[in-house]
Amino acid sequence: MQTLSRSCGPLAASLLLVLPVLGASSGPRFYGDAPDDHHPWAVHDGNRPQPPHVVPGEFSSQARPGRPPSDAVVLFDGTDLSGWQGDKGAPAPWKVTDGFMEVVPHTGSIQTKERFGDCQLHIEWAPPAKVEGSGQGRGNSGVFLMGRLEIQVLDCYDNVTYADGSTGAYYGINPPLALPVNPPGQWQVYDIVFRRPIYRDGQVSDPGYVTVFLNGVLVQDHTPLEGPGGHMGRTKPGPFPEQGPLSLQDHGNPTRFRNIWYRPLPPRSVEGGTDGWLTTEATMAKRAGIAAQIRADAATLKGNPREEMLRLFESLVYESNDAAYQRAGELAAGYVAKLQALPAAELAGKKDEVKSQVDVFNYLAKWKVIPDGYAPQVALKQMIKDQGWDKKPR
Ligand code: MG
Repeated sequence: MQTLSRSCGPLAASLLLVLPVLGASSGPRFYGDAPDDHHPWAVHDGNRPQPPHVVPGEFSSQARPGRPPSDAVVLFDGTDLSGWQGDKGAPAPWKVTDGFMEVVPHTGSIQTKERFGDCQLHIEWAPPAKVEGSGQGRGNSGVFLMGRLEIQVLDCYDNVTYADGSTGAYYGINPPLALPVNPPGQWQVYDIVFRRPIYRDGQVSDPGYVTVFLNGVLVQDHTPLEGPGGHMGRTKPGPFPEQGPLSLQDHGNPTRFRNIWYRPLPPRSVEGGTDGWLTTEATMAKRAGIAAQIRADAATLKGNPREEMLRLFESLVYESNDAAYQRAGELAAGYVAKLQALPAAELAGKKDEVKSQVDVFNYLAKWKVIPDGYAPQVALKQMIKDQGWDKKPR
């Protein structure tokens, strides 16, 4: 094989060695379970897009903020608030010093000019070192996702308040699973995964979820969204817009923030994404697109009939197509005839290729792309028998 899945162990790798080497695919073809009504890709599908490479960042320490990963959108790097604004678009009134921003109490909340939706969000905050107030009055601020639902920022170190308003709470809706808080004045880290609610025709397609790690400890576990949440009142689930700002709350305490960035997340299957369990309609549409791409690749391989044949057969795993089936059949018949015409010494050198081709036909027959008794398959099996290639070496 030219390429192997990174997850393949030595045994799997050795098994793959008997399977065909095929073109520009990123993995084996004619291999794992074929696409079905809810999965447009085969298992281990070599046509499946590769994940983008991301250069990891560095974790923060108390003394020094870390570095975001290479594909992050930086919202605050410790230098200025040019990407933020206050009420009604006024300049953000908080102060920036020594690589962090600090709430200037009673100047109002601030929000990003950038608007975004589903994301992985990283944000670090520190409650005041000087302990003042109690309950909701100690180091209170908030991270408002899309400017709506609040992940509570509060100094809960030796400070009790109502559970659904504690540090890491989805405020007013769901308490944190734990309180892994550092002492006052120290930096705390939120890593948040946010998926907004999606509605179609007034019906919920996906309620949306929020997952939160506080200082590396899980505090919200894929918590379903029940509206924005809020103070004293129970809110109802409902649609969100596609994008909104990130807002930080002025609750009258000089809480600090640093190292704020996000990574946008790919669409879910309910909004056109093609990973995960899809509807039959979405699956078939994606399979048709994959097949069309493979047929287009095949059309560039006119000078390489075996490769063209394999690509066309491969396309039929995703979508039946009369013209592709007929052309693949013609190429297969020509391929077999050419082998049969070879002198014995030359044919002997084709043993592995012919056995691989039979493996391909067996795969295609298993997944009903070709019928039982498909003539080229029968002919090659007979060739293997005639040549004694099916016998184990002594
Ligand atoms: Mg708050």
